[in-house]
Amino acid sequence: MVEQYDIGIIGGGPAGYTAALLAANSGQKVILFEKDKIGGVCLNKGCIPTKSILHSSQIYKEIKNSEQNGITVSEVSVDYSKVIERKNTIVEKLRKGIEFALKNAKVTVINSKAQILSPTQIKDSEGNEYFAKKIIYAAGSSATEIKGLEYDSKFILSSDDILNLKQLPKSVLIVGSGAIGTEWARIFSNFGVETTVVELAPHLIPTADIEVSKRVERIFKTENIKFYTGTSVEKIENKTVTLTNAQVIEPEIILVAAGRKPEKINLPDGVKVIGDSSGEIQLAHYAIKQAIEEIGGIEFKKELTPSVIYGSPEIAWIGKREQDLQNEQYKKSMVLISALGKSQCDGKTEGFIKLLEQNGKIAGAHIVSQEASALIQQIAIAMNNDISIEKLKQTCFAHPTYSEGIFECLFK
Ligand SMILES: Cc1cc2nc3c(=O)[nH]c(=O)nc-3n(C[C@H](O)[C@H](O)[C@H](O)COP(=O)(O)OP(=O)(O)OC[C@H]3O[C@@H](n4cnc5c(N)ncnc54)[C@H](O)[C@@H]3O)c2cc1C
Repeated sequence: MVEQYDIGIIGGGPAGYTAALLAANSGQKVILFEKDKIGGVCLNKGCIPTKSILHSSQIYKEIKNSEQNGITVSEVSVDYSKVIERKNTIVEKLRKGIEFALKNAKVTVINSKAQILSPTQIKDSEGNEYFAKKIIYAAGSSATEIKGLEYDSKFILSSDDILNLKQLPKSVLIVGSGAIGTEWARIFSNFGVETTVVELAPHLIPTADIEVSKRVERIFKTENIKFYTGTSVEKIENKTVTLTNAQVIEPEIILVAAGRKPEKINLPDGVKVIGDSSGEIQLAHYAIKQAIEEIGGIEFKKELTPSVIYGSPEIAWIGKREQDLQNEQYKKSMVLISALGKSQCDGKTEGFIKLLEQNGKIAGAHIVSQEASALIQQIAIAMNNDISIEKLKQTCFAHPTYSEGIFECLFK
């Protein structure tokens, strides 16, 4: 007999497990198929592993520079196997948490590749068939391959392969300066690896506000991260890489971080696609909001999805960029992070908070700062609720904090 479910979900990443939990907790009978590990790319190969390794790299760098805080440390070294062990422990702990929540909510989890046979029928890899009144496809995305830079998992690595490194390389070439490329550039450079980034667009982090991109370029220079913009890889011969600007480099490894493509197949009508597979914004929090919208009916303003790139300082933005407003009236206010008492105490003075205002409200915010990931959320709440600058001025911001930078911008 074919088993019957209210909802069948393909993919156990942020989109899939959020949808499954919400539906099951509202009383629906849910079946979830995951061919690999619960948690998807975000937990197993993306957001969480990179942030864990990044944290270790920042600790290493902080200790090496501890003298400026009045602390002398004689010897510091990196045991990369322990960095990875720590990362694995964090990932496993979080994965167990999601698995437990799914079990608690009585979601049936099938560890198998699923195939959609019709708008109501799913087959697992053993040939078992399941019936679901509604099917949600949340199969995620995979790293894009570039011609001439095909992954071999030894010299030319994807963002999945890079997590399997047993030890740190002496040098690395990173192709692409989006979130993944930029975060890995910071990880490697923090650990003292000779790091070069090539970016085809005219500036680093092409999707960011132009002033943010330029500031990151300045930061990369001070951190000895070499980068070439408007440049790509021309050819590779015996591990010798020639760039389109004629520079020749011999990196120990290459990380290609040049985008991800949705896992999309021909789906029957009526199957809802959410998360990275939808081909929209490829971020975990966007995938989660899509799941909440689909199951919980809570709509969200997609154009107000914040972006964050981690490292020190963090980079975050939301809404319109200055280059989007070329033909529109707007007011720009900016505060340098170095002007804030908290930044001086922390020794984290790099960056700025920039607000773009239109019609008395925030139209966009662009932040390069310690804690930018938390700062952008304050702006996200204000923008989502259409709160005017005048109203925001009534809020009392604690001192000393980085948030005071937002407060000061409001009065500029
Ligand atoms: C290195 C890296 C760093 C990142 N950092 C961040 C970050 O800091 N913040 C952020 O917001 N986003 C980040 N992302 C992006 C984020 O990981 C994705 O946006 C998010 O994982 C998308 O969630 P999803 O549920 O749509 O897909 P996924 O997480 O990709 O999950 C899809 C799941 O479906 C499974 N699946 C696919 N096909 C089938 C099938 N036929 N049957 C059964 N199972 C199937 C897959 O095995 C996978 O587990 C990062 C990505 C990478 C690669």
